[in-house]
Amino acid sequence: MRRLLGSFERSLSLLNAITDGVIAQDENDQLIYINDAVAHLSGYASAEAMLNVSAAELTDRLKIQDEQGQVLTVSQMPGRCALSGHEVPERELRYVNPNTGEPSWLALKAQPVFSLDGKVQFAVSIIRDITQRKQLEAQTIELLAERERVKVLQRFVSDMSHDFRTPLSILSNSLYLLQKNTDPEKRQTHAVKAERQIKRMEKLLNELLQSARLDENKVSFQFRQTDINTFLEPVIREYASLATEKQIDVQFVSDYNSCAACIDPTEFDHAFRNVIENAITYTPKGGCVTVRTTTHDQQTIISIRDTGIGISNNDLPHIFERFYRADQARSTDTGGNGLGLSIVKRIVEVHKGRIDVNSQLDVGTEFRISLPI
Ligand code: ADP
Repeated sequence: MRRLLGSFERSLSLLNAITDGVIAQDENDQLIYINDAVAHLSGYASAEAMLNVSAAELTDRLKIQDEQGQVLTVSQMPGRCALSGHEVPERELRYVNPNTGEPSWLALKAQPVFSLDGKVQFAVSIIRDITQRKQLEAQTIELLAERERVKVLQRFVSDMSHDFRTPLSILSNSLYLLQKNTDPEKRQTHAVKAERQIKRMEKLLNELLQSARLDENKVSFQFRQTDINTFLEPVIREYASLATEKQIDVQFVSDYNSCAACIDPTEFDHAFRNVIENAITYTPKGGCVTVRTTTHDQQTIISIRDTGIGISNNDLPHIFERFYRADQARSTDTGGNGLGLSIVKRIVEVHKGRIDVNSQLDVGTEFRISLPI
């Protein structure tokens, strides 16, 4: 008997010596055993000071939350779940450390303890404070995010320098030739060239600003129920007349039913113009651009199809990325900067719509904007 008692006392002092917290609770949520580590983690002086504390009180005191920040009651705690006879795998839970008042983390694993006749006697939970590890993980994630931000910034600065350097050098060259030349016709040519580069830089700056405003949610969208055919018709007519210069035929095939959608007229106009301008830009002389509206499955669909240079399968997944320009576009001086489609996508998404693209190199491209009716 003395040997048995000796071994029981040794077990208790062993349990008190370990740094992990040990809790045993019965089916009435009474704490039948806790070691000193639990007491210290819970802000009590010792395990004895917790004699009359129930599992529910302890859960409330620690303000335990799950991984998603949902506050847990004692019935949702692993200890209670283990009382139904199943081992509960380790869970990482948040809690408020009563010693510091700081949000902290613990890992908790619970398992049932059975009597000889196979009935659950009580549940044992093992608790470990993992706040330091969690803080380290959060710092590592923050560091990686910071590195990614620096990388994005470096790429942005390099893209921007390139996008401004090209028009600036053409501009300075044109101004030099404008000063040198006396022939009025040549002077006129250089003046037109210079003006085109100024417009290009102006467009770049406007798109950069628009992109930043959309990123920061600073664009306030004013949605209005709109008939899309009536809305698009004058814009397409405008581009049809501009495209005659390039001998491109622009057609509008509107659904005979009215196509309604809730849009912000200014922002949507901006998005649509971007896509139709691209279609005309990337279609060679003699080609055709067709805008078609249809309704399908509670969606109004605007298709903008061209018979232009097309986009290769390699480039296709990237064209909505900021500053991305396909090889074919880079090799022609269209004055583009690769910002347009990223802005279009963002605007369409704010309208709860989507934009898809299909293209075949040297055959043509189709963009489809779908908007909920
Ligand atoms: P950009 O100012 O270069 O036109 P966008 O963001 O509007 O920038 O388009 C990104 C890229 O997608 C273009 O550089 C071009 O390579 C490709 N692209 C967009 N529309 C078309 C189109 N209709 N036909 C062929 N390529 C297109």
